[in-house]
Amino acid sequence: MTDTPNMSMDEIYKIFLPWALKFEPDEGDYKREGLWYCGKCRTARQQWAEGVSEPVTIDCKCRTEENQRRAAAEKEAALREKNERNRERGIKEPALRGMTFAVDNGHDVTASKLCKKYAEKFERVAAEGIGLLLTGNVGSGKTFYACCVANAVIDSGHKAIFTKTTDLIYAMSANYGRDRANIIDRLRGCDLLVLDDIGAEKNTEAANEALFAVIDARYTDKKPIVVTTNLSPNDIKNPAVIERKRIYDRLARCTPVNIRGGSLRAAEGDAAKRTFASMLAK
Ligand SMILES: [Zn+2]
Repeated sequence: MTDTPNMSMDEIYKIFLPWALKFEPDEGDYKREGLWYCGKCRTARQQWAEGVSEPVTIDCKCRTEENQRRAAAEKEAALREKNERNRERGIKEPALRGMTFAVDNGHDVTASKLCKKYAEKFERVAAEGIGLLLTGNVGSGKTFYACCVANAVIDSGHKAIFTKTTDLIYAMSANYGRDRANIIDRLRGCDLLVLDDIGAEKNTEAANEALFAVIDARYTDKKPIVVTTNLSPNDIKNPAVIERKRIYDRLARCTPVNIRGGSLRAAEGDAAKRTFASMLAK
């Protein structure tokens, strides 16, 4: 009671006493030996207190539980809201925010399991700086699984940033000085960075410099990166373009996962065709 230094506990108690004594029985409540009991949970809603002639009001079992439930739900809602803000900041394209394990059609069960495990154990793998190198043909679902991981990591209260490699290079090349440093700081500071489609960008000095700056910063900090690429793990190990060697060398902590499943885009196309066909049939 540091903010009321001139009041004794007795004086404070007197002020709060009317609230402590306030009581209105609900329908079904009953009185036993001078105290009211809850008609639902049959535990006391009042008790005797020292120095008070009337019984004071307390929460019965069901009210206590209800309060706990409400507090937990409020906490949960606040967390969800915070995660959604992180998602909007970290994943710019709304469609990518909907790519989650919940909508995974399991077209590559092994890759799906590996990615899910990675997201589940994120704190442990992140502490080791372990990332993922998602390889596979065009349309195999690399970006989908990268987004599943990013969304799951965000759901568990972490900050993840998803960026197409070409967008990253563009942003880095279009900004100078403090603005450029801010971009690097943001990509360096997040818990997980997803670099989508590395290797598709042009081999220019600006591109190499931008990629190196970001990847090297995270490598130095031992922070994880999830990379998707059309390149093979061997292309990453021994790049045809020699300027890429020192960049790709810093992806050494990324575990290769090949997405083998049938083309997702083809499957989407089939689904669209089926939907269309069923509409025609009606
Ligand atoms: Zn009750």
